[in-house]
Amino acid sequence: DADPALRPDPLPEDNDRALRPQGLSEFIGQAEARANLRIFIESARRRNEAMDHTLFHGPPGLGKTTLAQIIARELGVNFRMTSGPVLAKAGDLAAILTNLEARDVLFIDEIHRLNPAVEEVLYPALEDFELDLVIGEGPAARTVRIELQPFTLVGATTRMGLLTTPLRDRFGIPTRLQFYTIDELFEIVSRNARKLGAPAEDAGAREIARRARGTPRIAGRLLRRVVDFAVVEGDGTITRELADNALTRLGVDQLGLDGADRRYLRLVAENYGGGPVGVETMSAALSESRDALEEVIEPYLLQQGLIQRTPRGRMLAQKAWTHLGLAQPQSATR
Ligand code: ADP
Repeated sequence: DADPALRPDPLPEDNDRALRPQGLSEFIGQAEARANLRIFIESARRRNEAMDHTLFHGPPGLGKTTLAQIIARELGVNFRMTSGPVLAKAGDLAAILTNLEARDVLFIDEIHRLNPAVEEVLYPALEDFELDLVIGEGPAARTVRIELQPFTLVGATTRMGLLTTPLRDRFGIPTRLQFYTIDELFEIVSRNARKLGAPAEDAGAREIARRARGTPRIAGRLLRRVVDFAVVEGDGTITRELADNALTRLGVDQLGLDGADRRYLRLVAENYGGGPVGVETMSAALSESRDALEEVIEPYLLQQGLIQRTPRGRMLAQKAWTHLGLAQPQSATR
C-alpha cells in the first residue's frame, strides 16, 4: 500500500509482532473491557453490521493498538491504521475512508492530535458514512457528497481530556484501559518467555512483572533485556536473582521506576520541599514536555500513590519520601 498516511509497520520501535496476542481469548487483563468487547463484536457479526465506533484511552503501552487489531481479526475484516498527526489534510483522510471496504476497522492512534479541518470531515463520515468534500477554490468551489461503506473507527488516545466534545460524543463504545496487576503481567511475561524460547523460573518472571510499571509494553522490553543478561552472564535461565540484577543495572528500581520517574520525584523533593509545584515548572526544570509528564510519567506515579495532584500543583506523598530514602520535611507533613 503506497498511501503515506498509513503506517506500514504498526510498531517499529518494539518490533514485537511475535509477542502480540492475536485473539481476544489470548489477551490477558482488562477483564471488563474484554467482556464487553466480546459482546459488541459478536452482536456486530450476527447482525452483519459494522461495529460501533470505539475509543480506547489510557497511558501508552497498555494494549490500545493490540485490541484494535484483535477487533478487526475477530470481526473478520481488514485493519487499516493511521494516526492523528499524520493526517495533515482533509484529503488524506478522504483517501483512506473511500478505500475502506464494508465493516472494515480504521484505527486512528493519537486521535486527540487530529487537525480540526480533518476532524470536521470525520464527523459526517462517522455519523452517516458520508463525506462532504469541497472541490476547487473560490467562486468555482462546490461540495460533493460521497457515500462510504459502513466502517468502524477505533480511536486511541493517551489524553481523553484533549478530545473535542463532538468527537468524543461520536464514539458509542468509550473504553478506559487500566494499568495491569502484577499477576496479569506475570502471565504475560511467562507466556512471552515461552514464545521467545527463553526458560524462565516463576520467581524470575514475577520479578520482571513487579517492575514493569503496570505496562505490557515495558514488560516485553524488560523481558528481552533480561534474556540478554541470562544468555551472556548466566546459563540462559531467567531466575529471580538474575532478573533482579539485570533490572537494577538497567536502572529499573524495586518499584519499577526508571531514571525519568526518579528525577521527577527527586526534583519535587529536593527543589520544592515536596510541592505543591505546577506542571509547567516541572516541565521546564526536567526538560520534558508537559505532555510527556502528564501522559507517561505521572499516571503511574499517581496510581502508585507516590504523588498527588492538587489544585495548586503536584505534591509528593509519604510513600515517595520513603522510597527516595529522604525524611519528609516538617512543613510538608500535616
Ligand atoms: P498502546 O497502543 O496502548 O500503546 P500496544 O497495543 O501497542 O499499546 O501494546 C504494547 C505492547 O504490549 C505490544 O507489544 C503488545 O503486544 C503488548 N501487549 C499489550 N497488551 C497486552 C496484553 N493484554 N497481553 C499481552 N501483551 C500485550
